Amino acid sequence: MRIATLLLITLLSSNSSHAFEVSENFWETGQAVFHVGISGSSPTGGTWNDAFKRSMAAWSDVSVFDFVALDDYIDPCISRGEGLFGDESTGVDFGATVCGSEFGENTLAITLTAGQCLNPQCTGGFSITDADIIFNSSETWDVYTGPLRFDGTSEFERVALHELGHALGLNHSNENSAIMRAFVSDTSSLQSDDIAGVSSIYGGIDVVQETTIANIYGVTLVAPDNAIISGPNNSNNLSGTLSSSDNQLDGKSLDLYQYTFENDSLIDIQLDSQAFDPFLYLVRVSATQASIPSFTFVDDNSGPSNNARITENIQAGTYWLGVSSASNNGQGSYEVAIISNTRNPPSSFETFTSVYGVDVLVNPNSNIDGSLSSTDFKFNDKFLDLVQIEVLTTSTVKVELSSSAFDTSLLLVDIINNEVGSLALQNDDGGSGTNSRLDTTLSPGTYWLGITSFNASESGDYDIAITLVIP
Ligand SMILES: [Zn+2]
Repeated sequence: MRIATLLLITLLSSNSSHAFEVSENFWETGQAVFHVGISGSSPTGGTWNDAFKRSMAAWSDVSVFDFVALDDYIDPCISRGEGLFGDESTGVDFGATVCGSEFGENTLAITLTAGQCLNPQCTGGFSITDADIIFNSSETWDVYTGPLRFDGTSEFERVALHELGHALGLNHSNENSAIMRAFVSDTSSLQSDDIAGVSSIYGGIDVVQETTIANIYGVTLVAPDNAIISGPNNSNNLSGTLSSSDNQLDGKSLDLYQYTFENDSLIDIQLDSQAFDPFLYLVRVSATQASIPSFTFVDDNSGPSNNARITENIQAGTYWLGVSSASNNGQGSYEVAIISNTRNPPSSFETFTSVYGVDVLVNPNSNIDGSLSSTDFKFNDKFLDLVQIEVLTTSTVKVELSSSAFDTSLLLVDIINNEVGSLALQNDDGGSGTNSRLDTTLSPGTYWLGITSFNASESGDYDIAITLVIP
């Protein structure tokens, strides 16, 4: 059984005070393909098609939902008639009528949705399989942003945004500034209420805060606001756009994000784009931002439709996720979905036994939780843990060692041919209280950090934070 709804944008006002409203209808696939082939251009704002596609992208960019534009024309009224709603091909056009029915007074546009009932009683909404949008051709239309002009011209792009919101399954919002408010206003872009609405149906994406955390080798590194992944089951999404102003790697645009997996994980990362052939990098970096080749992964086409996908067991640690294209000049919007499941045991790091008989932890994370214990190697009657770091570029390294269990002491030595070289730094109470701190500039090479106590035979938990400043 098929049912259909009509949703209008009108100039009628509404007085209640709550915000977005969702219908019970939604696209089970989380995706809708629109055939966008409206002929002609607006008087001042470019083609209708470009404005419509921008509106589709605006919704896609703030949600997991995907609008996909196809550059061909489908009559939005095709196959329609009594009992024939739902041709499962979405179209958009101007029309003098709503597929033969009169537009209501002051109605600028209409979205028709149709689909399959979700249960035999056809209660609780339907699974949308078709949505078509008809703009009232008796109106005068233009495309522009900002406040409405009072010359009787209707503005196409904000109405397209509104109608696409209905196509997604949103009803009218009573939030005054929302695009989904029942009547057009000075609002010409999606507002937080609109984004909350679509997110409530399909799941939101964490809009990436463009916080530049480092500029490394000429590449800007961004930390998304959901960048710490601790498990046991995590799902993270982000969206972005490759553009010509991005960092360039081998002639291709590159967006670089930093994620921290707090536990060893089985990860499944998918990079999708309708605009370019995606190419995905995942590179583990050590506390000193040296890449670790044994945990560097790249993929071009393992996902569906030439999308990129990396499925791997990875160690806990800090990773750079690189979004690029397989060919030069690939640009446009993309979406990244990260699914991670924590594996047991929760953490494993490479270690080796040095010529001095002490185990050395290699390539640690920036933050280490450890403990001195009676089974540790003993050096001058004090327990000792060793951590090996690599420095690739002359860098200022700050190391903070703190413990509430013992009076810490921190050592830093350089390593040449697996043996301690001439550099030997030590700090006892450079941090707060009895904590230790070293702040020094290191040239490229291999170094050991020694974690020990000031007094003999002390033990207990400690934390290390390693910060690297690259000039
Ligand atoms: Zn409406």
